[in-house]
Amino acid sequence: MTAQLIDGKAFAATVRASVAEHVARLKSDHGITPGLAVVLVGEDPASQVYVRSKGKQTLEVGMKSVEHKLDAETSEADLLRLIDQLNNDDSIHGILVQLPLPKHLNEDLVINAIHPSKDVDGFHISNVGLLGTGQKSMVPCTPLGCLMMLRDYHGSLSGMDAVVIGRSNIVGKPMAQLLLNDSCTVTIAHSRTRDLADVVRRADIVVAAVGRPQMVPGDWIKPGATVIDVGINRIDKPEGGTRLVGDVDFESCAAVAGAITPVPGGVGPMTIACLLANTVTACCRANGLEEPQGLTA
Ligand code: NDP
Repeated sequence: MTAQLIDGKAFAATVRASVAEHVARLKSDHGITPGLAVVLVGEDPASQVYVRSKGKQTLEVGMKSVEHKLDAETSEADLLRLIDQLNNDDSIHGILVQLPLPKHLNEDLVINAIHPSKDVDGFHISNVGLLGTGQKSMVPCTPLGCLMMLRDYHGSLSGMDAVVIGRSNIVGKPMAQLLLNDSCTVTIAHSRTRDLADVVRRADIVVAAVGRPQMVPGDWIKPGATVIDVGINRIDKPEGGTRLVGDVDFESCAAVAGAITPVPGGVGPMTIACLLANTVTACCRANGLEEPQGLTA
């Protein structure tokens, strides 16, 4: 391996420490405790793990954590009523509805019912519009985490060629927008992109958010490029059991890249750290206080 490892786990610990410092100051100087409410509908096992982890980390940085676990059969009206209650609760500064929702619930409707100022996932249509026009918004956590790591490694990203593979609303599109806002020349690739290898080879920065295990091989990577692997895929091990891999083939990419994030231990830990960062930012904005530096885009 020649690439420098971008250690998301260690970076996330520094983000959490900075959040904890701000939370302590909000409490001591203003008597305010930032609060995050997480709503889980149904019993999807992966979602349950995420929600547990979010709750634990929220408490660890000194914030208030509220969990609402609703039955899989919960009606849209009941869910919207809960969101309305949380929108009007001054002790709650961030609201996150864990996705995916059961099929009978309209995700767009539910997400857009969250007040944009409390939308710590950054998925509300107002926040998407604000980000798209370069205005202050709540920024989706996973792309925000990627951006923080890229800025930390490179300093300025201005003028760099970036390729984002994937165009989902939660990762690919906001990632591309953030890179554009940082003055990269951005290409968004997707399943219909012709000659993906050729497109990726032009990139100084590659962000892979596809959901296909080890899809990007090392010979697609420009020597010295920075590779951010968002993918989380569970594959079978030859000797039995399973392991997590990303969307890039780590071994071959690390042999060519200048820097690379591992899976696990790269983007994943940064996502929850950025959720905490967004909550403290939302709390400062709600109270008309100066927001923390370095914790948002
Ligand atoms: P989606 O399935 O919503 O989007 C995948 C994107 O990849 C689509 O835009 C799709 O293109 C594109 N794609 C699929 N196949 C190809 C291909 N062969 N070549 C090029 N592009 C392709 O996934 P998400 O964005 O939600 O997630 C992507 C990955 O990131 C997943 O592994 C997910 O688990 C992981 N993830 C990790 C997080 C973290 O915290 N680390 C958080 C969120 C996601 P098209 O639009 O044309 O179909």
